[in-house]
Amino acid sequence: MSIRAVVFDLYGMLTEDLGRDGYDALLRQMAAVLLLSADGFSAAWCQVGRRLTTGGFATLEEGLTHICNVLGTQADAERIEAAVELRVGYIRANLCPRDDAVETLTRLKSLGLKIALISDCGLEVPMLWSETPFAPLVDTALFSSREGLCKPAAVLYLRACERLGVLPEECLYVGDGNGQELSGAKAVGMTAVLIAVPGAVHYDYGRLEAASWQGPRVAALSDLMNLVD
Ligand SMILES: [Mg+2]
Repeated sequence: MSIRAVVFDLYGMLTEDLGRDGYDALLRQMAAVLLLSADGFSAAWCQVGRRLTTGGFATLEEGLTHICNVLGTQADAERIEAAVELRVGYIRANLCPRDDAVETLTRLKSLGLKIALISDCGLEVPMLWSETPFAPLVDTALFSSREGLCKPAAVLYLRACERLGVLPEECLYVGDGNGQELSGAKAVGMTAVLIAVPGAVHYDYGRLEAASWQGPRVAALSDLMNLVD
């Protein structure tokens, strides 16, 4: 069956992955403005991470208020807002396209292919999405924090197909292999492709799939063009 759509992961795919040092520094800064210990905040943030990325809180403010409560404090609204601003600023700065990302999306679209995005992410990404150069090039974007579930849930991939009007077998799914995203895509019938960019930095949790992936792989976004011709 010929390929009619390409479904992209976001971090480590269209953008660089979040580097560990920058991410840890952000958590320390957020802890400082909330007057919390860095270690306590970081542990609590990790604990509620799943809820933050699956729509368990309506806003980041709500999530941070919950974390403060868990840690036995009550931050005032101004401090919560300052922490939100730090987080949103960090996410905005990290939504920069990889060198060949915009060009590749543009070329894929010019071939008549449909484009989707599926990202496991917090509420900041959908908030900022329209500011990114990706927005006009992506036909449908599914964010875990809006959809209420993370990869590798089959329903997420099937929802992307439904919104694009294509079958899973007509889709390439490409990502850097976090969260079992490749096997999830393969399980619904998509052709899953690992992007393994030399020298990429990962803020990693669960990259076992990338290490053991035996399926197709590309070393750069632009190499995708060879898979859709
Ligand atoms: Mg990724």
